[in-house]
Amino acid sequence: MRLRGEDRLSFVLVFLIRNNDGFTTDMMMHLKRNFKFYCFLITSIAMINFALISNEVTKKRWDSPNYKDGAFHNLDGSKTMAEGASLLGIVYDYLISRQFVREPSGPIPTIKTNLKNLPKDKDLYVWFGHSSFLLQLNGQTILIDPAFSGYASPVSFSNLAYPGTDVYAVDDFPDIDYLLITHDHYDHLDLKTISKLKDKIRNVVVPLGIGDYFRELGFTESVISEKDWFDEVILANDDKLILTPTKHSSGRSIFQNQTLWTSYVILSEKLKIYISGDGGYGPHFSEYGKKYGPFTIAILENGQYRKIWKNVHSFPEEVIQTAKDLQTQYLIPVHSSKFTMALHEWDEPLKRIHSLGIHQNINVVTPMIGEALDLSHPETQCPKWWEKVK
Ligand SMILES: [Zn+2]
Repeated sequence: MRLRGEDRLSFVLVFLIRNNDGFTTDMMMHLKRNFKFYCFLITSIAMINFALISNEVTKKRWDSPNYKDGAFHNLDGSKTMAEGASLLGIVYDYLISRQFVREPSGPIPTIKTNLKNLPKDKDLYVWFGHSSFLLQLNGQTILIDPAFSGYASPVSFSNLAYPGTDVYAVDDFPDIDYLLITHDHYDHLDLKTISKLKDKIRNVVVPLGIGDYFRELGFTESVISEKDWFDEVILANDDKLILTPTKHSSGRSIFQNQTLWTSYVILSEKLKIYISGDGGYGPHFSEYGKKYGPFTIAILENGQYRKIWKNVHSFPEEVIQTAKDLQTQYLIPVHSSKFTMALHEWDEPLKRIHSLGIHQNINVVTPMIGEALDLSHPETQCPKWWEKVK
């Protein structure tokens, strides 16, 4: 298989380090002190390199009402960066502010469930940290945004997963009836994981443009369903899957919004489930509540929020409002506890959503990584496991 840009760059770095006899202690100290700066620099170079040599997705033109002037757009026209965001501020935050963000100092607690032995007659949810989770629904196994390679970036030494979150590996998984991807950001589309899972995946459902990643990995055309917003897929158990617009963006390089981003509605025999993917708050949630709801379960992004990203990520207060708009019985928050992407402390999203849920009478369900949650009666009194992390 052809090497991607980030792989080439990693090889060059390893070669240079292994072959440079003049790599003195002083230089090592300098590198250590400025590690985050070099991570930023190398990540930027890798992204440009990646964009220039491996960007088939940028060459396509889509016959879709959502694709205009060479890119996909949010329905309300909102941009990734809110007004007032500056490039200098972003660089400063990445190099300086991020160093002061509190990450877990001990391993994240987990439960190791035998995924190959889940009772097929039960509707279940198993979370793997951040936005990776498995649903067993009406007899079908559905995997969403699996990311198990230990980092969410173009290079393997940047944006590392927290200790303890690597308890599940590809070998632990049963055959997957449907793999769903919400969008192509590194923390949601992990090509190394997908490549290793390939032989276990029977069907893939992705928004427009993402199919190319799978074709490049050698998936056959017959297993790929590449869909636009509001397209529907009828699953083998007759459950209905609908791609619904979300307010976000896409891109793994300097070329942005060349693939579509989505949320998913699953209308199953016994349950109605909403999977947000990433997305900012908006009136679309109450529309989905009226059109497809009331929902039983809403799995909503809650974490990695910042004021400059308010168009494309939701704050915990907005996540609670989203749950109300969707008229959901239970809210399961995701998008936290594995990677640091924003400037809040690692456990802040969980603390805030838990407290808001109590005060606003929303059933917030916070299972541990790996815990099999029975969706027919989710435990709303989950222990606050994050308080036990040192
Ligand atoms: Zn994203």
